[in-house]
Amino acid sequence: MHVDLNTVVELRDARLRETWRPGDAWLGGGTYLFSEPQPHIRRLVDLSRMGWDPVRVTPQGDLEIAATCTIAQLSRFARGARWSAAPLFEQCCRAFLASWKIWNMATVGGNLCNGLPAGPMISLTAALDGVCRLQAQDGSLRETPVADFILGAGVKDLRPGDLLRSITVPARALAARTAFRQASLYGLGRSGALLVGTRDQGTGEFVLTVTASTVRPFRFRFPLSPNAQALEEAVAYGIRAKEYFDDIHGLPAWRRHMTFRFAEEIRRELCEEDGR
Ligand SMILES: Cc1cc2nc3c(=O)[nH]c(=O)nc-3n(C[C@H](O)[C@H](O)[C@H](O)COP(=O)(O)OP(=O)(O)OC[C@H]3O[C@@H](n4cnc5c(N)ncnc54)[C@H](O)[C@@H]3O)c2cc1C
Repeated sequence: MHVDLNTVVELRDARLRETWRPGDAWLGGGTYLFSEPQPHIRRLVDLSRMGWDPVRVTPQGDLEIAATCTIAQLSRFARGARWSAAPLFEQCCRAFLASWKIWNMATVGGNLCNGLPAGPMISLTAALDGVCRLQAQDGSLRETPVADFILGAGVKDLRPGDLLRSITVPARALAARTAFRQASLYGLGRSGALLVGTRDQGTGEFVLTVTASTVRPFRFRFPLSPNAQALEEAVAYGIRAKEYFDDIHGLPAWRRHMTFRFAEEIRRELCEEDGR
């Protein structure tokens, strides 16, 4: 549903590079921006004509996803890929509570910069060691891991005017085995818990990434396969009670319960079924 943003007085093309003013906001696909009133916004700076390649593989084999890449473009690209982690892309794209219209408009960058706990592109890129490339208004660039970019529910490491340019997923993460679990209170609902496990096929390292049930991503890294107790303790100590998210899509107690259940399922899938 699109609403009129009646405080917005101007739509600018981001290619024009004008001075950033209070009340400016980057416009990705607009699926969030146009879905509810935005009284603080005066100008939208439209990224849709930047002409960035939506997704590309670097000569080193890393995957570079432009902030303007849509969910549909990413899903299509990953369907043809041969990486071990390819199925995770589709699983996360499908975890989006969205119609085909949203799929075709919503951008990966917009999903990260919205910073919702149920942001499936946050789950995907955090779990695959994704790194955000950010450009400040003075043109300077900085990089920060996706898991550190999201600081809380809707809170992200963006200063006024900062532009998320791209997210890079290293080749090593693309070669990992992955396991995915998601729960919603109702069919095709917004994620109440979304957990991803990865297992490095070379070193055997196991990493669990907890999203949607918590206000921000939490990652638990084990150089060797943990047993059930070690994983349970890590999650219990690592996530405090108040860090489980509370909204209409799930009570914190239920989210916590699903987190522990999925964590153990993922551990078994990745650490036991191959007998190691
Ligand atoms: C029916 C429906 C279902 C939805 N389901 C989900 C869901 O399951 N999970 C979820 O997380 N969201 C959901 N959303 C919210 C929203 O659609 C998504 O978060 C989407 O990914 C936002 O992407 P966008 O490109 O449309 O962002 P926009 O609406 O264009 O922007 C979102 C925010 O990010 C900023 N921004 C955008 N691009 C950049 C950039 N490159 N650099 C810096 N800032 C930027 C904008 O200024 C704005 O603050 C849903 C929305 C609708 C209408």
